[in-house]
Amino acid sequence: MNKPAPRALIVGMGIGGLATAMRLHDIGWDPVIVERASERRAPGYFIGLFETGRATAKRMGILDAIGNRTDPTTITYDVERDGRRRPGMGYGDLPGGPRLILRGDIETALHDAVALRTEMRYGTTPTALGEHPAGVVVTLRTTTGEDIAETTEHFDLVIGADGVRSTVRHLAFGPDNRFMRPLHHIVAATTMKEPVPGYRSQDGVVLAEPGRSVWTFPFTGHQPGLLFNYRTDDEDAQFRRPPIESLRAAFGPEPVGPVLGHLLRQFEQADDYIFDSARSRWTPGTPTGSSCSVTPPGA
Ligand SMILES: Cc1cc2nc3c(=O)[nH]c(=O)nc-3n(C[C@H](O)[C@H](O)[C@H](O)COP(=O)(O)OP(=O)(O)OC[C@H]3O[C@@H](n4cnc5c(N)ncnc54)[C@H](O)[C@@H]3O)c2cc1C
Repeated sequence: MNKPAPRALIVGMGIGGLATAMRLHDIGWDPVIVERASERRAPGYFIGLFETGRATAKRMGILDAIGNRTDPTTITYDVERDGRRRPGMGYGDLPGGPRLILRGDIETALHDAVALRTEMRYGTTPTALGEHPAGVVVTLRTTTGEDIAETTEHFDLVIGADGVRSTVRHLAFGPDNRFMRPLHHIVAATTMKEPVPGYRSQDGVVLAEPGRSVWTFPFTGHQPGLLFNYRTDDEDAQFRRPPIESLRAAFGPEPVGPVLGHLLRQFEQADDYIFDSARSRWTPGTPTGSSCSVTPPGA
């Protein structure tokens, strides 16, 4: 009699979780993905798919499905607060010519490739992990509307693909602050509804000043993305007031001028956004600063 396929629990339905499910399935595992959100996430704001990512996607057979939203007619301008501008470089002009896409383009391509052969449960998160020699006993909580149900199940392997502030890591190894080092840097991103007055919707703008910058990311077939970055010595203070107030404080006290003023209003009027600190992952006892990621809370 054939042995049943080993069972893996993958927590998180982002790029990491979906790609892991695809590979585990290919090598004979039975993956189950659980996702905290009640449905597929919004597509995010922008991603540059560089050569390493393109080669990986090609090997996985999903590069064509990911597509390419780079607009060949884009001109990116370096702008000053007073409205002066000159042609500059955008994200898509970086060496390696990244494809400009949305995070959701990768997630959708992966989702379509694994959905028919992988069990997926939404509104579900682990609340306890118990390791034993033959695997892991996991308590899973599923929230459907007002209803909450808990089950306890056995898996041969548990994979935390649940973002930089991973619940799996927390349950298995302890509090986040043991593993994440603040970079004193804030990232805020959203989608633009209206182009900057005086610019075409396919144009990019970059306003870069010491310790702070703002970028727009034009696409074909989608509204442009908008990204603010700034450095701060007091990360906690940035989260004690509404994000737009922190952004206005960080980009002040000088007058904002026409372009920055418009971009700040776009953020203020956005239906959804991310506003978060950048953190480097760090394993206690090893040199710091191996990688950097930003977590969109709930995004
Ligand atoms: C504004 C921005 C721009 C970026 N630009 C680029 C770029 O140009 N190039 C690039 O390579 N990368 C870029 N990145 C980074 C890239 O988006 C991330 O590295 C990547 O999406 C991470 O994927 P992930 O699957 O590891 O985690 P995530 O995308 O964080 O997905 C984690 C998933 O786990 C779920 N989850 C969380 N907690 C739980 C829980 N307790 N139980 C169940 N599910 C849970 C979440 O809802 C989510 O679906 C950018 C990120 C941002 C925010």
